[in-house]
Amino acid sequence: MQYQSFLIKYAEIGVKGKNRFLFEDALVAHIRHALKRLDGDFIVSKESGRIYATAQSEFDFDEVVESLSRIFGIAAICPMVQVEDNGYEDLKQQVLTYVDQYYDDKHFTFKVYARRGNKRYPVNSEQINRDLGEVILHTFPDTKVDVHKPDVMLYVEVRNKINIYSKIIPGPGGMPVGTNGKAMLLLSGGIDSPVAGYMIAKRGVKIDAVYFHAPPYTSERAKEKVIDLAKLVSRYSGPVHLHIVNFTDIQLYIYDKCPHEELTIIMRRYMMRIAEHLAGEAGAQALITGESIGQVASQTMQSLAATDAACTIPVFRPVIGFDKQEIVDVSEKIGTYETSVLPFEDCCTIFVAKHPVTKPSIKMIERSEEKLEEKIDELVETAIRTVEKVWC
Ligand code: ATP
Ligand code: MG
Repeated sequence: MQYQSFLIKYAEIGVKGKNRFLFEDALVAHIRHALKRLDGDFIVSKESGRIYATAQSEFDFDEVVESLSRIFGIAAICPMVQVEDNGYEDLKQQVLTYVDQYYDDKHFTFKVYARRGNKRYPVNSEQINRDLGEVILHTFPDTKVDVHKPDVMLYVEVRNKINIYSKIIPGPGGMPVGTNGKAMLLLSGGIDSPVAGYMIAKRGVKIDAVYFHAPPYTSERAKEKVIDLAKLVSRYSGPVHLHIVNFTDIQLYIYDKCPHEELTIIMRRYMMRIAEHLAGEAGAQALITGESIGQVASQTMQSLAATDAACTIPVFRPVIGFDKQEIVDVSEKIGTYETSVLPFEDCCTIFVAKHPVTKPSIKMIERSEEKLEEKIDELVETAIRTVEKVWC
């Protein structure tokens, strides 16, 4: 028997008062948007702290669950049966029908957990638990009650209508995208930056992305890979506007003028400056990177400080304290890992020095950047003017 409705629960912490409205409305909009892309018609509605999605036609259950389980803000997805309140005897019948239809094998332990949203309902929760438990035991003699660790927890919510459910599929948690502003993700072809984007989007932040491309040193396929990664992130974050910056001339110019052991840091700083500019244009309030302390020379404390000093808006580095394996675990979970490890060159690896500085001082880097004075502004301006934008 297939469920026709879903009860969608969200974490209520932090969504009291006025914010709650925004949070719920955004969540409903995301759910509608996600379901519209699937086969089947759904009505999505909200009602006193609950969101319901009810099918009006045939649909693919697994596809719907998979789609819902990528929407930030959802704490749990409960396939349920909703019945009219036609009196207490009818409720008992409905619960028996539910158990019969959804559990072929009746060898299980259970507990009934009733709650009355509607306090005028003539029977209190405790009594509902006892009575429903009794009729289930009586009708299905293979079942047993276990109040501590039941196989099946049967929830019965008495509201204007009555919700019956017993399956709770965890959602991704977080907050609905768009309820917490917007940020610009520096998205490379690696493992870390898609994870970083996912983590910030999870907090309700809308994501735009920027990729620094260096043709012919980086191939068209490396760019396609980043587009693919942006699309994978967009399954969670919603559409990502990817900005592709042609970085070749800037990189060559830095290579030409600056000490090679400082190349990575200086390139980094120009990436941050351009990203900050694009963030401003896109209405984004922060940058996001996939940096993690100590992972490579450009991610020591001193290098991070030097990179930070190049921009004025906040830089979020959500994987800063993660080990590589922990980042890999998230990337596998969200489905970006396989694409991330495809072996295409990225624009930094081509220009890396054999012995990059690991403890750059900001003063020293600034002095090196003075050597770029003649042409750098013009090159940056051209890079910004010729940005290619792709909706992912
Ligand atoms: P990742 O696995 O995310 O590529 P990484 O381990 O390769 O990271 P770096 O190459 O030092 O580390 O990059 C650190 C961060 O800088 C990346 O996570 C990303 O946010 C940003 N970055 C690096 N290269 C680029 C690029 N070509 N375009 C956009 N952002 C980049
Ligand atoms: Mg990288």
